[in-house]
Amino acid sequence: MGWAIALHGGAGDIPFSLPEERRAPREATLRHCLDLGVAALRANRPPLDVVELVVRELENSPCYNAGKGSVLTTAGTVEMEACIMDGNTNNCGAVSGLSTVVNAISLARLVMEKTPHIYLAFDGAEAFAREQGVEIMDPSHFITPENIERLKNAKEANRVQIDYTQPIKANSTNDQGDSQIGTVGCVAVDNHGNLASATSTGGLVNKMVGRIGDTPIIGSGTYANPFCAVSATGKGESIIRATVARDVAALMEYKGLSLKEAAAYVVEKVPKGNVGLVAVSANGEVTMPFNTTGMFRACATEEGYSEIAIWPVDSNGISEDSQK
Ligand code: ASP
Repeated sequence: MGWAIALHGGAGDIPFSLPEERRAPREATLRHCLDLGVAALRANRPPLDVVELVVRELENSPCYNAGKGSVLTTAGTVEMEACIMDGNTNNCGAVSGLSTVVNAISLARLVMEKTPHIYLAFDGAEAFAREQGVEIMDPSHFITPENIERLKNAKEANRVQIDYTQPIKANSTNDQGDSQIGTVGCVAVDNHGNLASATSTGGLVNKMVGRIGDTPIIGSGTYANPFCAVSATGKGESIIRATVARDVAALMEYKGLSLKEAAAYVVEKVPKGNVGLVAVSANGEVTMPFNTTGMFRACATEEGYSEIAIWPVDSNGISEDSQK
């Protein structure tokens, strides 16, 4: 048994032609966040702290669809959501409908630790953020020119889309990868088998105002128990229908499947192109399956395995990314 960590920056139809200038900063962010998480685990920080730390860093990167860089609702506003869960205790906290909170994941943790509740949304969540004194910014801080463009394109195509779904224009395909950003998540286990999961997102481009996705829903986008920790990404409505994260844990608990078997089974059951997840088990196993074209992802284990990839890895274990 050893520590393990895995993180993602969203799954979707990521074109193999993703230009270097769009790919490189995202890979660099994954690498930086992985290093941060590994250092924290090596320093014996609790997995709950580790996943919060890593997701905060991912939220602060405009490369990904969480915190600054969140995609826009049909009204051109940001409504961020996040969830965190501790495997040992099943304690969890979630938030939705945030437009000013810099790190939604930390507010989710405060909901978990400082309230008798699990999930706060919209005005109540914003009021709680002020009461707790977390960092806030004017809503305009979170809105990037890229996301204004993404919303415009989605509206022209009359689509609600996973931020990276192609094509984003009504009559043309976007092989520039301009919309290649995604929801973020992190799962970690320490060498005592303590597990935690965290996920944070801006949701879907052109989503209805008030729409809540899978990310903050315990057992859908985020889940941790004494067997495993899971963070999912993809089309929220499909992930909620399939209770993706909880199903992985349930297959391990009730059917005795390994983490890899359980996660592969669940991902296979969700309609193709709709889901990806990262997961770790209490004994330090790690898996990162997806049924989309790609998923921005990274992992490391105490035994020395490490991977940073976007597209599938071939049967020799070589990432197709490095072959490009
Ligand atoms: N699952 C997120 C949602 O539907 C989107 C994503 O993973 O990119 O809100």
